[in-house]
Amino acid sequence: MSQATRIPSSEHGINPREIDKKARSILTSLAKAGYEAYLVGGGVRDLLLGYSPKDFDIATSATPEQIKDVLPSTRIIGRRFRLAHVHFGREYFEVATFRAPHDDSGKGQVGDHGRIINDNVYGTVLEDAYRRDFSINALFYDLNTGEVLDFVGGMDDLKKLQLRMIGDPVVRYREDPVRMIRAVRFSAKLNLTIEPASEAPIHELSSLLSNIAPARLFDEVLKLFHGGMAVKTLELLRSYRLLEHLFPQAEKSLIEDAQGDGSYTRLVQAALNNTDKRIRSGKPVTPAFLFAVMLWKQVKEGSEMYRELGNPELQSVHLAATDAFAEQVKCISVPRRFSNMTREIWTMQGRFQFKNTRRVLSFLEHRRFRAAYDFMCLRAKSGEIISDDCEWWTLIQEVDDQEKDAMCKAFSNISKKGRGNRTGRRNKRN
Ligand code: ATP
Ligand code: MG
Repeated sequence: MSQATRIPSSEHGINPREIDKKARSILTSLAKAGYEAYLVGGGVRDLLLGYSPKDFDIATSATPEQIKDVLPSTRIIGRRFRLAHVHFGREYFEVATFRAPHDDSGKGQVGDHGRIINDNVYGTVLEDAYRRDFSINALFYDLNTGEVLDFVGGMDDLKKLQLRMIGDPVVRYREDPVRMIRAVRFSAKLNLTIEPASEAPIHELSSLLSNIAPARLFDEVLKLFHGGMAVKTLELLRSYRLLEHLFPQAEKSLIEDAQGDGSYTRLVQAALNNTDKRIRSGKPVTPAFLFAVMLWKQVKEGSEMYRELGNPELQSVHLAATDAFAEQVKCISVPRRFSNMTREIWTMQGRFQFKNTRRVLSFLEHRRFRAAYDFMCLRAKSGEIISDDCEWWTLIQEVDDQEKDAMCKAFSNISKKGRGNRTGRRNKRN
């Protein structure tokens, strides 16, 4: 197919008013200056599927410099992939110049494993359609005429609710292995089936993810797990053997847990379920929590090992955390502010056993108390630890100071009666 099928607005039903006003103004300005400009990618796809788009990407025949001439608030960014960001205060829209395929132009560069390393070869809208990943991501909306331009059969695939790679899937996954995780993301998020030929190579090529820069994978992984469909996403990642290249320690833990008591699997499920619910109700989520969950089994076992070697409890958790992150960042780099928070969530797990008034009051004031508490309750829910602590700490947050004091005293009386040897308790708890 080298000609676009043009679908009139009466057939596709996109209402231009659903497109962000500022994105529309960019499209109009570029068109007035004599350039081709379209809405493309997720914006068009989501509108056609009846979802509200997360962002509106624009593709144009204008080069980044020409875009800046027309729209002076433009900032040109990127090296591998030069892009124009058209700013409206802090908000910006991505405007990309049409790209040609790198492989037969001779101008782009393809590195080891067939990976694209330079993608700055400008082209026509037709060429731009073919270098995109999935057919449903290669639909262009023309604001002037109201038509959708389809070069690659994307409309048909949308109707079939199927995700189909443009071109030869093996070649396209080799060019950019991140497309394999994009396939999983769109499939989970938009409830699409991956067309058999696009699905088949994923199992065999999954190890190519190890060639991707860990920093890029951090962004991709957040999109995967913070898209509102984390439970389903995890299931798909495991079935395509992709998880082992993103979170090798979590994959190992899940396999071991299947032979064990199943509590780690329940913890992961409960945590991701929570994340999905929070995202759907517009509550904030943090990557620190995701890493806390994914590495927990490893860290817990590592801490036990260090404790058996004679290290103090807290230091054992720190040592195990260092080991787990050292391993994790080989695949996905984790910005320090998040890994520090993850570490705090882990080290604070030991504090839930101390229930004297002074320690309880200061713990409740800790800036990470809430995250640590949520994590502890998930552990309780999964059956990893007994649920008494979750109930006790839930209640104590709800009562006034006097009652807090009474709760702590009551707890210490119970402990005295039971003559709890504290060391024994401690060892069992963590
Ligand atoms: P969403 O923004 O909802 O996550 P999207 O499809 O818009 O989904 P973006 O990452 O914003 O995803 O990319 C915009 C478009 O750029 C895609 O729709 C696709 O056409 C193209 N694209 C993005 N990443 C790739 C890739 N790795 N290979 C080929 N084309 C890509
Ligand atoms: Mg997008």
